[in-house]
Amino acid sequence: MDMPLSYKDISSFHPPQRTLMGPGPSDVHPRVLAAMARPTIGHLDPAFIDMMEELKTLLRYAFQTENALTFPVSGPGSVGMETCFVNLVEPGDKVIVCRNGVFGGRMIENVRRCGGVAVVVDDAWGMAVDPNKLEDALKANPDAKLAAFVHAETSTGAQSDIKTLVDIAHRHDCLTIVDAVTSLGGTPLKVDEWAIDAIYSGSQKCLSCTPGLSPVSFGARVVDAIKRRKTPCQSWFMDLGLVLGYWNAGKRTYHHTAPINPLYGLHESLVMLKEEGLENAWARHALNHRALKAGIEAMGLRFFVDETQRLPQLNAISIPQGADDAEVRKRLLNEYQLEIGAGLGEMAGKIWRIGLMGYTSRPDNVLLCLRALDEILGAAGADIKTGAAEMAAQNVYASRQAPTA
Ligand SMILES: *Cc1c(COP(=O)(O)O)cnc(C)c1O
Repeated sequence: MDMPLSYKDISSFHPPQRTLMGPGPSDVHPRVLAAMARPTIGHLDPAFIDMMEELKTLLRYAFQTENALTFPVSGPGSVGMETCFVNLVEPGDKVIVCRNGVFGGRMIENVRRCGGVAVVVDDAWGMAVDPNKLEDALKANPDAKLAAFVHAETSTGAQSDIKTLVDIAHRHDCLTIVDAVTSLGGTPLKVDEWAIDAIYSGSQKCLSCTPGLSPVSFGARVVDAIKRRKTPCQSWFMDLGLVLGYWNAGKRTYHHTAPINPLYGLHESLVMLKEEGLENAWARHALNHRALKAGIEAMGLRFFVDETQRLPQLNAISIPQGADDAEVRKRLLNEYQLEIGAGLGEMAGKIWRIGLMGYTSRPDNVLLCLRALDEILGAAGADIKTGAAEMAAQNVYASRQAPTA
C-alpha cells in the first residue's frame, strides 16, 4: 500500500513544460501569462473598471457584434453554456437541441434541468447538423421557443453551418443559442451578420488564454425575453439581470468578485487577437490545418470528418490498425512533452483529437506532432507510411511562401 501523502512533504508546484495539442486547454501565450502576473487591484477600482470596458469592446470585435450585452462570465465555457440556458429557458418551455456530439448532449441536459422540454434532433457523430432535420423539427413543434446548436463540435471535429441554422430557426420564430467555445478566434464567426441571439465561448481554446472564463454575447431580443420571464432565473449567480449591474458601465455594484488576474489574461489575449487581425487568425488556423492534413494523409492516416465539414482547429484522426491508443498518447507525453486528445464519449478508442488552437496553432507544433507520430507509430509497427509526413507539411508552408510573381 502507498503511504498516504503528508502535507509536510509538499512544496511549490512546478508543472512540466508541455505542448498542448488536445481539445483544450491549448498553449497559453507568454504575454497572457505575464499579464496575469501583474498586481491584483480591487474589482471596483476605477482602473479595473476601465479595463472591464476595454474587455467588452475587444470581445465585441472577436464576436463581430455590436451587442451591448457582451462580457466574460466568471467561469469556464460550461458556465457560459449554463448562463444561456438558465436565463432563456423557463419551466415548460420547448427547446429544439441539435446534437451531433458530446456538447449537444450537455445542452439537452441543461434544458431538462431548467424544467424545459428538449426536442432532440440527432445527427451522426462526425457530421454537421443537418438543416433539413432542424426545419422538420420546427414544423412539427410550432410551440418551440428556442433552438440550440454547437458551431464547432470539439468531440468530433465537425463544423455546422450556423448562419443557415439560425435563419431557419428565426423563420419559425425561435431564438437561438450557439456554442462557440471552440470556434471563437479560430474559424469565421459573425454574430451580427448571422443574427445569433445568444452565444457563449471559452477562453482556453482559440484565444490562447488560460481556462476559466466564458465570453458571452446577447442580442436585443434576448434582453426582451429575459425581461418578460414569468419566473425568476433558477440560478442566483448566473441571473443576467443581477450580473448586469456589475458589468454595465455607469453605477457598478458588487455582485461577485471578478477573477481579476485571469481577466488581465483575457484582455491581453484579445489585444493580441486585435493586433493579428481576426481574419489573419482564421487564415493561420486554416493554414496550419492544411499542413497537418498533408502530413497526416502522407502517413496514410485518415480524418474522421468529411473534408467539407471539417474544423481546421480540431483534427479528429482515426486511430490506425496496430496502434494502442493509450500507449501512443503516453509516449507522446513522456517522450515529446506533447499532449493530444483521446476520443470522447462514443469516440473513445476510435479517434485522436489534434488541436491546433490559438497559440498552439503554429508550424513548429504541426511539424513536431507529425515527427512524433511518425516515429512512435512506425516503431509500434502500426499500419502507416513512415518518413513522408514532415516533408508533406513543409511543402504546404513552402508553397504558400513562394513569391507570386
Ligand atoms: C470545451 C468546450 C465546452 C466547455 O468548456 P469548459 O471551459 O471546459 O467548461 C463547451 N462546448 C464546447 C464545444 C467545448 O469544446
